[in-house]
Amino acid sequence: MFPFQGVDFMGFDDNLSEQQKLVRQTVREFVEDRVLPLIKNCFREGRFPAELIPEMGEMGFLGASLEGYGCAGMGDVEYGLLMQELERGDSGLRSFVSVQSALVMWPIQEYGSDVQKERWLPRLRVGKAIGCFGLTEPDFGSNPSGMRMKAVRDGDSYVLNGEKTWITNGTLADVALVWAREGDEIRGLLVEKGTPGFTATDIHGKWSMRASVTSSLSFVDCRIPAENALPGATGLKTALACLSQARYGIGWGCIGAAMDCYETARQYTMLRKQFGGRPLASHQLVQSELAWMITEISKAQFLALQAARLRARGRLKYFHISMLKRNNAWMALEVARRARDLLGANGITDEYPVFRHMANLETVKTYEGTDNIHALVIGQKVTGLAAFS
Ligand SMILES: Cc1cc2nc3c(=O)[nH]c(=O)nc-3n(C[C@H](O)[C@H](O)[C@H](O)COP(=O)(O)OP(=O)(O)OC[C@H]3O[C@@H](n4cnc5c(N)ncnc54)[C@H](O)[C@@H]3O)c2cc1C
Repeated sequence: MFPFQGVDFMGFDDNLSEQQKLVRQTVREFVEDRVLPLIKNCFREGRFPAELIPEMGEMGFLGASLEGYGCAGMGDVEYGLLMQELERGDSGLRSFVSVQSALVMWPIQEYGSDVQKERWLPRLRVGKAIGCFGLTEPDFGSNPSGMRMKAVRDGDSYVLNGEKTWITNGTLADVALVWAREGDEIRGLLVEKGTPGFTATDIHGKWSMRASVTSSLSFVDCRIPAENALPGATGLKTALACLSQARYGIGWGCIGAAMDCYETARQYTMLRKQFGGRPLASHQLVQSELAWMITEISKAQFLALQAARLRARGRLKYFHISMLKRNNAWMALEVARRARDLLGANGITDEYPVFRHMANLETVKTYEGTDNIHALVIGQKVTGLAAFS
């Protein structure tokens, strides 16, 4: 296989500044040199490559779009390209960075007190501390408004009781941002690793996101200082705003996984010969598949770019993000499935990255709002009618 050169059929790069290209190239090289040599074994072993965390911190990948506290202050396109390149490596790696950046650092900066910001952001930025985001519960996934976890105020403390599950980085995390019900209000609170009554255990048996830590969190009479509540994080809408940050990055990230699958299939079918020594890529049905893939990747790139432009103007709304996340996750999964087919039997092995991406993208389609739920968000926008319940 030849070194990855990117995928650009429609002159996408004409829209990028030199600085944006430089960010992309830097992350691409990091993925080539540091991620690709180890990711296959990590996936086999069901292990997150935690050894990459300090380097990612040093390179400014954590909290990259935030300003202050030493964060890189990347623009919307640069941040998107960072996510794209990381996910070309593996969706698990991009998920780690998404959670740390968009679901932990962003809410601390947006909703936290000065003390909370000072305590956590500098350490989270360099990867000396790791965070996780606990919204999903065993009985409430697509509908987090039904959550049962409780936070009861008792003097200078909150006492937490409840369960969270499917939490990325759960057992790795030094701090968990968890969402709990205080009376009628939902609020976000920081719980530190080692707090009595708080335990995290890993979920095993995953066929997807094997190079990512996924955990369940349990809280039994877990007492935390009242000042661990994020002052601005009240109401489900504040939790959903964090998800909007993360979904924006996912919309870009999926393109990286799709590019890797497309490029692997293109190169494979150019080299592999069947029926009279002709390369597979010379057959019409194979070309039709490659044409489908590059068309969908190109459309996804421009959808992401338009989302970045809207975001830079403060006009990116949650329903735009639903379209971006839903379309690009679907596109990438479909590209991966078609690429897997074009690789024939070789496509089911981990000699090639395609099946790994395909398995990961099943999660990407489901988490951060399922394909169906984002369809309902878009449906509500265009009809004015909510079809959720
Ligand atoms: C690897 C992994 C990592 C994750 N990381 C995190 C994390 O860090 N933090 C966190 O809080 N959560 C996390 N999640 C949880 C994830 O966000 C949820 O799995 C997701 O929201 C879906 O919830 P559910 O699995 O309970 O599915 P359900 O809500 O039970 O949905 C099952 C199916 O029913 C459909 N459905 C549900 N309601 C409707 C409806 N009204 N109309 C039509 N169809 C509907 C869904 O679209 C889906 O197809 C993670 C999940 C995975 C797999």
